[in-house]
Amino acid sequence: MNKDVVVLNCGSSSVKFAIIDAVTGKAGLSGLAESLGNADASLTYKLNGEKTSFSLTDNAGHTEALNAISKIIEDTGVKPIAVGHRVVHGGEKFKEAALVNNEVLTAVEDYASMAPLHNLANLKGIVTAQKAYPNLPHVCVFDTSFFQSMPQKAYIYALPMRLYKEHGIRRYGFHGTSHKFILDSAAKLLDKPVEETSIISAHLGNGCSVTAIEKGKAVDTSLGFTPLEGLVMGTRCGDMDPSLPGTLQKKLGKTADEINDLLNKQSGLLGISELSNDCRTLEEEAEKGHEGALLAIEIFCYRLAKYIASYLIATPSLDAIVFTGGIGENSSLIRETTMNYFAHLGVTLDEQKNLDARFGKGGEITSSSSSKTVFVVPTNEEWVIAAEAATFA
Ligand code: ADP
Repeated sequence: MNKDVVVLNCGSSSVKFAIIDAVTGKAGLSGLAESLGNADASLTYKLNGEKTSFSLTDNAGHTEALNAISKIIEDTGVKPIAVGHRVVHGGEKFKEAALVNNEVLTAVEDYASMAPLHNLANLKGIVTAQKAYPNLPHVCVFDTSFFQSMPQKAYIYALPMRLYKEHGIRRYGFHGTSHKFILDSAAKLLDKPVEETSIISAHLGNGCSVTAIEKGKAVDTSLGFTPLEGLVMGTRCGDMDPSLPGTLQKKLGKTADEINDLLNKQSGLLGISELSNDCRTLEEEAEKGHEGALLAIEIFCYRLAKYIASYLIATPSLDAIVFTGGIGENSSLIRETTMNYFAHLGVTLDEQKNLDARFGKGGEITSSSSSKTVFVVPTNEEWVIAAEAATFA
């Protein structure tokens, strides 16, 4: 039976789309409409390995992009059975994927107060796609759901409790679909049932997060109320002294929004290196001795190692540490530098296996004598979204 699902990820000025076979995870079609709302709005897609790009009309928005996307899908002859929507924030309400109805749409809108850019764009995508596919089930798959199993000790901040009770201020966690995929994949590699599998999953892309998973359940994660906390990321600062935003506002004479922008878009690898947020560029320049690039990589790996080490406490049944995301999958240097911090705990990587695991191959990268197993697993968030959506078809 046909199990093709349209997977949509609507950002504020982009729509990422794919047709995914919910059983195999294979993408027959994938593409991106970007610069929406601008003069250079464009659409690029890959169908059966062949790439096509074209300009959208001036200032084309989500509606024009989704119309073009549904036409491309129609032309493929594929008859999708459901539409899966990536939704960033599901608050405490959505512990799993939800079939879109008015109540769900209202909740997604309500949670926009916590993720304004993301949830409103997601909502726009859902409403527009419902018009393009009125007869298919539309399903929201939330980035936050996977973390709803965390205990209070992991998600409550040491702030007055009323901020949690009255305003929902707590750790929510993000990248949930990726960490869920990594858990399922690790269980297969370990040949264990998911509910008995314990891992520390490091998703390292432009955004980065580590999640502690004990016996199939997320028990802690590094991203917090927003996707700013935790690790050093491409342009986000991660952890720092919480008094700094206020201090910087006064010192630099900037508004809260400007400081927010500085912490989200001008910090992280880019801020430290004063060069780039792209790990590839940093590795190339570090090789040539660029001091900023060297320091950015050093701080990135040290912070990551500290997080992984702290999650050893949260995962007494740990089976494996897993790297994923653009950096986690491809950078043998980042993996090696990070895991070297665990040498005194008996963790040793196999140099050749670490190199071989790059570029989509994955696999175990530890030597046979290592005290812990370390895997590389290429993530596939779209597959999780497709699989969840297909259950409603
Ligand atoms: P996003 O979070 O936007 O999905 P990705 O998961 O694609 O991002 O990860 C992007 C990051 O992966 C970039 O920093 C990029 O430099 C890094 N990356 C991709 N390929 C390599 C590589 N071969 N070596 C090192 N870093 C890489």
